[in-house]
Amino acid sequence: MRVVIIASEAVPFAKTGGLADVAGALPKELYDLGIEPILMIPYYRKVINGRYDIKRLRKVKVNMGVTSKTGSVLSGSYNGSKIKTYFIGYDAYFNRPGLYQKGGVDYDDNVERFTFFCRSAVEAIKELDLQPDIIHCNDWQTGLIPKYLKTLFADDFPDTKTVFTIHNLAFQGNFDKKYFPITGLDWDQFSLEDMEFFGQFSFIKAGIINADIVTTVSETYAEEIQTPEFGHGMDGILRERKKELYGILNGIDYSTWNPSTDEFIPANYSADELSGKEECKRRLLEENDLPDDGKPLVGMVTRIADQKGFDIIVEGVDRILGMDCRYILLGEGDIKYHRLFKEIAVRHPKKFVVHLEFDEKMAHRIYAGSDIFLMPSRYEPCGLGQMISLAYGTVPVVRETGGLADTIEDVKEYPQTGVGFTFKRYTSRTMVEALRSAIEAYNDKIMWNQIVVRGMRREYSWLKSAQKYLSIYNELYKK
Ligand code: ADP
Repeated sequence: MRVVIIASEAVPFAKTGGLADVAGALPKELYDLGIEPILMIPYYRKVINGRYDIKRLRKVKVNMGVTSKTGSVLSGSYNGSKIKTYFIGYDAYFNRPGLYQKGGVDYDDNVERFTFFCRSAVEAIKELDLQPDIIHCNDWQTGLIPKYLKTLFADDFPDTKTVFTIHNLAFQGNFDKKYFPITGLDWDQFSLEDMEFFGQFSFIKAGIINADIVTTVSETYAEEIQTPEFGHGMDGILRERKKELYGILNGIDYSTWNPSTDEFIPANYSADELSGKEECKRRLLEENDLPDDGKPLVGMVTRIADQKGFDIIVEGVDRILGMDCRYILLGEGDIKYHRLFKEIAVRHPKKFVVHLEFDEKMAHRIYAGSDIFLMPSRYEPCGLGQMISLAYGTVPVVRETGGLADTIEDVKEYPQTGVGFTFKRYTSRTMVEALRSAIEAYNDKIMWNQIVVRGMRREYSWLKSAQKYLSIYNELYKK
């Protein structure tokens, strides 16, 4: 079976969030299961500047309404990886500092950039004669691909099946209909039953409607997105596809996220030998000029967006700062929160530290050096932060939604098996209560140690998830 996985970001090439982790890890795991998947992503500046043994394979010419653009397909690989990776190159679109935005604002030509990406990806697959049985698309940036396979390229790929995975339904790729001609699709496709969405046209809707199978990244989120509360306007069409909609929990890549081998952290440790974790905390406090006085350290590593719970954090900020602990936040995103957190950090230097950037190494050091990991998301398709923090013996405090509900059982509800602290209602009060429970538990060293070790022994490996994807591919393949 030949599988091509297409995404707009993938580790180690380019990353803004969890999608990159998935697109990096899934091909590796499938390879170990006997499939040789091909990965395809844009040729971003980050890739151009990396060391990936790049070879230019051929040109691709794409019709974009009244004009046509000629880009290229390149191949590359990273040290030691067996995964064949193809890149779609077009400098004017992808040789930029950001993947999707600049200074927190989306590039105003994203509609062109990702139409070009979708169409070139299909062209490239055809020109390179890859003959895939399955094309696995991810998120809105690839949403036009299942549509192209059913329309402009139907004769070229009569037997190819598509899987479309929703990593976050809030990002939809909806654009003004004046851009529709760029897609090269017929105006017939611009209807409510098809790609139209409240007067605009929608990449994600095209993916959801036209893919043979739709998946999302946790079972709970698969249910939630069929409701108006979490459906972002797409719940109706998702209910219609209920029978072909699956939730498959992401795993984490334990070759990257492992405290016993992690090279970014000052001391290695494991569930059997935790002293290294104390050293990680000591160093983290020292580097951030926070007092080392035995109080719990609460860490956050996250995109700074309302989705991640920042509205209730801001609402409850006085109560949060009133608690007997320290905070360290690493993240970037919404500018209005940047300003606010800078101010809070200046006012409470011994209590609250913020790093407004994307920093892989620091992320590892925070996962390792914190005692508690706070993730109070309004919604969370899967969430990797809580799984990573478990691996590092950092106890998660999360809201029970999406993948957070599927991975973290509350210690109070399940004293023998719980690995974190959870709250249901999305309010600052319930969040603060959960955080308070965690801080109280921290002061009972024997109980805390049990929770930490239990969490570290949890395994959310990619193997299980990859097996589930593989069984979906197999089912489609047989059809
Ligand atoms: P999402 O994809 O919605 O942003 P996830 O929890 O699924 O959230 O994945 C986030 C991933 O990005 C994790 O690997 C997390 O460690 C990483 N990450 C988020 N923000 C930063 C940051 N500022 N610096 C480094 N890594 C980050």
